[in-house]
Amino acid sequence: MPFFLERGGENNPLEVQRWQYFLRKNNVTQTGAIDGQFGMKTEEATKIFQLQHSRPTTGKFDEATLQVAQGLGYTVRPDNFYSNKTGSNFPPKPTNLESPSNADRNAALGCFRFVQLPLGNRADKDEVVPKDSCDHTIPDWRNANIVDLPIPQMKFVTGFSGIMRCHRLVAPHLLLLFARWEELDLLHLLWHYDGDYNPRYKRGQSPGNGGHGLKQSNQVSALSNHAFGSAFDVNERDNQFTKEPARCPRRGCVRELVEPANELGFYWGGHFSEGSQDGMHFEFAKF
Ligand SMILES: [Zn+2]
Repeated sequence: MPFFLERGGENNPLEVQRWQYFLRKNNVTQTGAIDGQFGMKTEEATKIFQLQHSRPTTGKFDEATLQVAQGLGYTVRPDNFYSNKTGSNFPPKPTNLESPSNADRNAALGCFRFVQLPLGNRADKDEVVPKDSCDHTIPDWRNANIVDLPIPQMKFVTGFSGIMRCHRLVAPHLLLLFARWEELDLLHLLWHYDGDYNPRYKRGQSPGNGGHGLKQSNQVSALSNHAFGSAFDVNERDNQFTKEPARCPRRGCVRELVEPANELGFYWGGHFSEGSQDGMHFEFAKF
């Protein structure tokens, strides 16, 4: 039995995400946001899809609708697909990949000098202001290294502008990652975008409220990987910092995304040590 869906039904949220993503991809814009909730918009969008394909307009994702959708490439998951994924047994930590050391990321992505303003002058409490490269050959490290990368695979993701800001050397890896997730039919799992390049300390690790003068990134391990443009966050609402990541099939569960990401050199924040778990976070780690 495939997963059938309807407003008010006992729906599988990730399968609702899959159906909403499919509707958006088939230009049924009335679907609205991909949010795992089969509400009035999804029902209306389902009716429009049914009308377009001359099927009874039940507003439900039912057998007749499934058959049309399958002909258009919709993936049907077997009904036991989630049964071994509902617990806290997330994919194991990869054995051949670690979150990069400060020395590694500076060597690979470049050392920069930065200051931190007094707390009252920061837009984000952990923000820093990048300056030149540590060897002074590049006057503006950010301008020289951070690029705007279009990610078409995320065009239906709430909060995504169409552009990811990232390090120029990480950009090709990001393109491979999103192409791989697309190939595996996992894009519906990305529903909310929550950040990329962001020059800042790790959460809660700013040295103080008063700010500080020039420091070098190769001498400060408390900077976030977001400050190097090698990390991005998705589905934050369901995968909050320090909390256990969302279990499947809850909305925002990223577990199916983890293994293919690891294979392409991306470390998952859900594998950070106890107390720093960060299920929304993916970072390039294979330098
Ligand atoms: Zn992050």
